[in-house]
This record gives sequence, C-alpha cells and structure tokens, in this order.
Amino acid sequence: MSCLFCKIIRQEIPANIVYEADDILAFEDVNPQAPVHILVIPRKHIATTLDITDDDNELIGKMHQVAAKIAQDRSVADKGFRLVMNCNRDAGQTVFHIHLHLIGGRPMNWPPG
Ligand code: 5GP
Ligand code: ZN
Repeated sequence: MSCLFCKIIRQEIPANIVYEADDILAFEDVNPQAPVHILVIPRKHIATTLDITDDDNELIGKMHQVAAKIAQDRSVADKGFRLVMNCNRDAGQTVFHIHLHLIGGRPMNWPPG
C-alpha cells in the first residue's frame, strides 16, 4: 500500500515516535506548526473521518485519550492545546490516513485559517 502513514507504521519510513500501542501510534509532525505538534494515528488504515464506522468508535476515543496523555507529558495540558482532524480538500487534508493533530505550546487563534 502506498499510504505514507502506513509506511511509517511498517517502519519503511522513519519517524520520531513518541507513543506506541497495538492499535495506535503517535509521532512528531515533520513540519511542526507549534512547539508541540504530534500526529496520533490508528494502525488501521482509515482514509478520512467519513470512513469511520461503528467498529472504530472505541479506537477514535482512544486516540483522544492518547493525545490528552501526550499533552500532559509535554506540559501543554493546563495552558491548552488543539486537536484537529482535517477532512478532504477544503480542510487541507494531504495524507489520507486519519490523524489527530495535537498542537500546543503557543496561543492559537480562532477562527482557524
Ligand atoms: P493533513 O494536512 O493531512 O491534515 O496533515 C498531514 C501532516 O502530515 C502535515 O502536518 C505534514 O507536515 C505531516 N507529514 C507529511 N509527511 C510526513 C512525514 O513523512 N513524516 C511526518 N512525521 N509527518 C509528515
Ligand atoms: Zn494508511
């Protein structure tokens, strides 16, 4: 499979991995947009938010728990952080394997760009 994040999961492409479990992986974003920018992904290939099924509900919840744990480990939890999952073109999704962006370590604007 040519999916970039599946290649990271199979260790065909290096990544700075910060969390590993049997169903979830988290690693540093290669082009960080803030002092903390980590991607939390399922090992299961799910292309977009639109492809999430009932079978995935526990997995999606766990991805958020993993992100919260990493936010605490990186000391951005109290000040605040942002979790973002882009879906399709207008949102700027470029990798079609769902990923939760954990972004923190600086104040952020709303509405987003
Ligand atoms: P999207 O735009 O799909 O929401 O987010 C894709 C993210 O993946 C971007 O923030 C981009 O910097 C990151 N990314 C793209 N290629 C790689 C890579 O090879 N390694 C890592 N660690 N991150 C990547
Ligand atoms: Zn994939």
